[in-house]
Order: sequence, then C-alpha cells, then structure tokens
Amino acid sequence: MKRHNFNSGPSILPQEVLRRASEAIIDFNGLGLSILEIGHRTPWFTEVIEEARALVKELMGLDDTYSVLFLQGGATTQFMQVPLNLLPVGGQAAYIKNGIWGTKAIKEAEVFGKAVTIGDTSDRNHSYIQKDFPIPEGSSYLHYTSNNTVEGTQWHELPPAGDTPLIADMSSDIFSRPAAFDKHALIYAGAQKNAGAAGATIVVIKKDILGKTGRNISPILDYQGHIKAESMLNTPPVFAVYVSLLTLRWIKEQGGLVEMEKRAKARADLFYEALDQLEVFKPLVEKEDRSLMNATFTTTNKELEKPFLELCNEKGMVGVKGHRSVGGLRVSMYNAMPVASVQALVDLMTEFNKTSQ
Ligand SMILES: *Cc1c(COP(=O)(O)O)cnc(C)c1O
Repeated sequence: MKRHNFNSGPSILPQEVLRRASEAIIDFNGLGLSILEIGHRTPWFTEVIEEARALVKELMGLDDTYSVLFLQGGATTQFMQVPLNLLPVGGQAAYIKNGIWGTKAIKEAEVFGKAVTIGDTSDRNHSYIQKDFPIPEGSSYLHYTSNNTVEGTQWHELPPAGDTPLIADMSSDIFSRPAAFDKHALIYAGAQKNAGAAGATIVVIKKDILGKTGRNISPILDYQGHIKAESMLNTPPVFAVYVSLLTLRWIKEQGGLVEMEKRAKARADLFYEALDQLEVFKPLVEKEDRSLMNATFTTTNKELEKPFLELCNEKGMVGVKGHRSVGGLRVSMYNAMPVASVQALVDLMTEFNKTSQ
C-alpha cells in the first residue's frame, strides 16, 4: 500500500535522503566503512559537519557574525540552554505564550530569572496569534515560537520586537520559507521535522550576544565553548548530522527556501480550501494565522472523528490524529511532502463528506 506520511515529527523525509542515508550505513562514500563506524574527529566526518554548518548559513543568508551548532537534547533542551546563556542574573526576558511549546520554554526560563509572559493566547486555546503588544522594558530578549506545531498557528511576520534581541524556536518551520533570519539573535530547531532525523538540534547564534549573564555556566552547556570547539565539544550525533546534511543539500538542489515556500503554499492552499468547503470538517484556528506546516481541524459532529480516522488508516494516511493535548485532527505537511499526498487526503475527505451527511 502506498502510504502518505502526515506525521508531526519525526516526520517525512525526501526519498533521496533516505536512500543515501541507508547507503552510508553500509558504505560511507566508498570508504568500506559505515558512517556509524567512523570517528567524529576524522576528516571524513569533519567535512560532513563543516558542510552542514555552512549550508545552514547559506540557506539563511547569514554572515560570519553568526555561528551554527549541531547539538543534542532536542529543542526542549534549548528551552533551558537559552536562558542559561542569555538571561542575566537578576534580569528578565519576554516570552510569547501562544502554544504548548512556548509555555514549556517559559517554565525553563523561570528557573534562571524572570520570564515575563506577553501575547498570551491561552484564553482561546491558542487558536490565534496576538500580534500587537509592547515589549516589557528591561527585557534581555524576546522569545517566540515561529510555528505552533500542536495548535496549528504560525507567525507570518516577525513579532514586534523593536530593538530587543529576538530568539525563535523554529523547530517545525525551519527551512520552509525565506525569513528575516538576520533579525534574530538566536534560532534553534530540533532537526526531526524539516531538517533531518531526531538526535540533532540546530542552533544559530549571533556571537556578540554571548558572555553577558554574569553567571557561571556549566562547560557542556556553554554556547561559547561549543562555538570554540566547532560543535565538537563532545561526540556529536554523527549519523543525525549526516542526515541533516543530506536534507540541507536536497533543499538547496530543489531551489532553496523560495521553492520550499512555494511548495508549502501550494499544499496548504489545496488543503485549507477543501477544509473550508467540506461541511463535515471545520478548522480549529483563525484563517489569517493558519500554519502552512501543521493544519489542525476537527469534524463538526464529534462522532465522525473516529470513522474518519479509521478510513485514513485503511487508506494508508498516517499521522492524521491531533496532539493528545488538543485532540481533534492534524495533518503535518513538511518540506518533503509531495502535493499528491495532500491531493489524496483531500479526495478522501471529499468522499467522506459526501457519504457522512
Ligand atoms: C517538536 C517541537 C519541540 C520539541 O522538540 P524536541 O526535539 O522533542 O525537544 C519544541 N518546539 C517546537 C515548536 C516543536 O515543534
């Protein structure tokens, strides 16, 4: 059966990336060794990580005032590592609260100082993005989640940060569109949604923001140490970094972020147009804030949800169920998703709509 992979993360990767990654497990670049068997300080691997770091910068159009790291621990560890490295002792930072991931980031920041919550959308289950608010004075940075993977909303412009350094959790929409990356002081993302396999975490840092907290930072968690060691402070996740490299090369070959955005819009337009037309389904978020990556919706009659999911299952549509904290339905349409998969889902929804009324 042909499967259509709407998983939210880990999620769909380009077939070409999967093929090359599996080849490298048996024989990496004709060396007669597996990628899993080579030392991380060998030229074979340092070339991999160097190219991957350079491609991140190239795709984002960033200069050498930025450093790119491949770390471990996922985006969740960055919820802690960001305030540890950037929130001054006795200081405060502003955090936009418009989803469960941003809320978790706030909890971690509160361990190190004051996290002032702004743009809070919990009054309506984070079904919209609040875009107009002042930044509390004395904030060392403003943290936001560019795409709310669970709730299905996305920032389509930058938050109003003014002169306050901007920090973004881009885990679920990194490399999906061009953006003013150079307006950010720090960007991070777990690789497993749009940038590779689970195990690698990409962190992009404007170097001059570091070293100002007055705090003693554990060496293994210190961004400055990682930058100095070029992501080799300890053994990096070698295979995951390689999968990220293959994914980054694929994005570049396909036409870069401009092309990724074009494809994302085509998929999302197709899906949302059907969603708005079919009577038995309804969207969960406001139109102007809808995510191009993760669409959340439900059935107008709650009882139809189960039979719809069963039908999806039967037809090889994987990952259509909503996150356990929100319920309902969700489809994730990351970079590697062919528009044909979205068309197949839309056809199925259209058929279900016809037979369920
Ligand atoms: C998936 C996700 C996370 C969590 O990532 P981990 O790598 O599991 O820690 C954090 N933020 C966003 C926006 C996500 O989509």
